[in-house]
Amino acid sequence: MHFTQPVYRNPYWPTFPLLQVTQGCTHNRCKFCTMYKDVRFRPQPMELIEEDLQELAKLAPESKTIQLLSANPLIMTYNKLRPILEKINDYLPEIEYIYAATRVSDLKNKTVEELENLRELGLKEISLGVESGDDWTLERVNKGYTSHDIIEQCQKLTAAGIDFWMSFLNGVAGKEHSMDHAINSAKIFSECNPMLVGTGGLTLFEGTPLLDEARKGEFTPLTEKEMLIELKTFVEHLNCDCYFITHHTVSASLTGPNFLERKDEIVKTLNNEIEHGNMDRYAEIRRNKRSL
Ligand code: SF4
Repeated sequence: MHFTQPVYRNPYWPTFPLLQVTQGCTHNRCKFCTMYKDVRFRPQPMELIEEDLQELAKLAPESKTIQLLSANPLIMTYNKLRPILEKINDYLPEIEYIYAATRVSDLKNKTVEELENLRELGLKEISLGVESGDDWTLERVNKGYTSHDIIEQCQKLTAAGIDFWMSFLNGVAGKEHSMDHAINSAKIFSECNPMLVGTGGLTLFEGTPLLDEARKGEFTPLTEKEMLIELKTFVEHLNCDCYFITHHTVSASLTGPNFLERKDEIVKTLNNEIEHGNMDRYAEIRRNKRSL
């Protein structure tokens, strides 16, 4: 298989075979991310994709699922993406479910009809690293799209019947804008109605512009307790019946389906953590994180 590092596997789909169809990230400018800093974006040459599919056809001919790599494979136009999905179906005839993470802005160059066609070829689920629904925050961390773009593109996914995940990055707005980030994100996420909402807490990694800004006093990170208060505010304002996942330091008991049924319980758990949680331990867990 032809993989370019780093390879990000969705941890919730640990057994999916991976297929590299692009390398790196076209954007590469989010202020909290260094994941693809040293990788130049380029589409994977079709010969290499085909060689990988030949290998997969020998190793796992009955594959029903596959994850496309890397950061935003859907940046490719419909006309470039469609032949790749057709080849996947040719080499792996039992394929039912193709998954990819991608950027909201990658969907702009596709019509609903084109998305429907991709869905028929197996593209059933997309993960959107939205991070915030608050326009001030989106601009502050250089996400490269607005809340209006998020709603518009998610509506297209819904119309095309493609399920999607949305992620909320707890703490990314810093102290001054924390509540707006929480409340406006919950509002936009609720309007988009994703099948899954994932939340993770901001860790300031070496090499990120946001860490430089924090060192210069231009960005004030939240404390662990403030992160939990922001997460609780987001949860309180979120009104879509999604599967809810959190990679926060207090994750285990918060994750599960039927969010609206569990919302009161999640808020109660967070209140308890805010009052009695071991913030030093949470800070240590965060310090030991090595990637997003
Ligand atoms: S967060 Fe995603 S879109 Fe932003 S630079 Fe990193 S990989 Fe690219």
